[in-house]
Amino acid sequence: MSGFNLLHLVTKSQPVALKACGLPSGTRRSKKTWPVTFPQDELKKRLTPMQYHVTQERGTESAFAGEYAHSKEEGTYNCIVCGTPLFPSDKKFDSGSGWPAFSDLVKEESITITDDFSYGMHRVETSCSQCGAHLGHLFDDGPRPTGKRYCINSASLGFQSKKAPASAEAAGGGAHLQQE
Ligand SMILES: [Zn+2]
Repeated sequence: MSGFNLLHLVTKSQPVALKACGLPSGTRRSKKTWPVTFPQDELKKRLTPMQYHVTQERGTESAFAGEYAHSKEEGTYNCIVCGTPLFPSDKKFDSGSGWPAFSDLVKEESITITDDFSYGMHRVETSCSQCGAHLGHLFDDGPRPTGKRYCINSASLGFQSKKAPASAEAAGGGAHLQQE
């Protein structure tokens, strides 16, 4: 009995620290949870402002401004945030829109599609299935056989060239190197 009372007292005497929710007002909380998450301040350091804006704030880069809009190099396009392979270069085509366009994916499940009703339009938004990074939109006016057009921001993508860079040249770039 006395033990219970003592415990009760001790518990009661603990200061109750109620902390307000730490989220700054205006922070967009995504309803979905993704298999891979990154701290936002780490992403702010690692990504360029445009890459952060597009992938984390569902932004859109200017047409014809992205580095991969007209790239024809052979290789694989990865998610810039988590590195997941998304699009093979042989499915890339020139849509004339000024953004990289692809007719198919590396793997069907690597992209999650959701309805996007922003700007008074109904579009289909595409996100990386691993980390939830915003990539771009999906349209139904692509070339055969899929008829799909993945209209993707260059800022959402990293590129893994098919030809392995010679070690002498490797020192040059390194912007898309990822540890872990
Ligand atoms: Zn990702």
